[in-house]
Amino acid sequence: MTDCIFCKIVAGELPSEIVHSGEQVIAFRDLHPQAPTHILIIPRRHVPTLHDLTAADGELLNEMFTVARTLAEQEGLGERGYRTVFNCKDEGGQEVHHLHLHLIGGRQMTWPPG
Ligand code: C5P
Repeated sequence: MTDCIFCKIVAGELPSEIVHSGEQVIAFRDLHPQAPTHILIIPRRHVPTLHDLTAADGELLNEMFTVARTLAEQEGLGERGYRTVFNCKDEGGQEVHHLHLHLIGGRQMTWPPG
């Protein structure tokens, strides 16, 4: 999608600190980190929200969570713990409508979320 900022990051048209670049999925550091580690894991193809996935996208989700786990380990969070979040659509707090999995860690998380 031409007006999607995350599609532009995938295409290399917008700068970002890429920490993983795979066939289906890339990951980069969030521009406004909410914790010492805040990484976004996104599919290369444009999928607007979690709600647009179907059972046929199981491999993509598996890849996204596998990348999250690997990056969490690399960030030294394997023992400490971390949080993964999909915000979905407006009431879910989603601002960028290109599917992304937040990997957040390096500080104590609280519950409930805002
Ligand atoms: O889940 P949500 O859509 O609210 O998250 C979007 C995230 O994308 C935010 O954490 C925001 O800081 C991040 N972002 C970014 N680079 C941009 C635009 C947004 O890292 N150019």
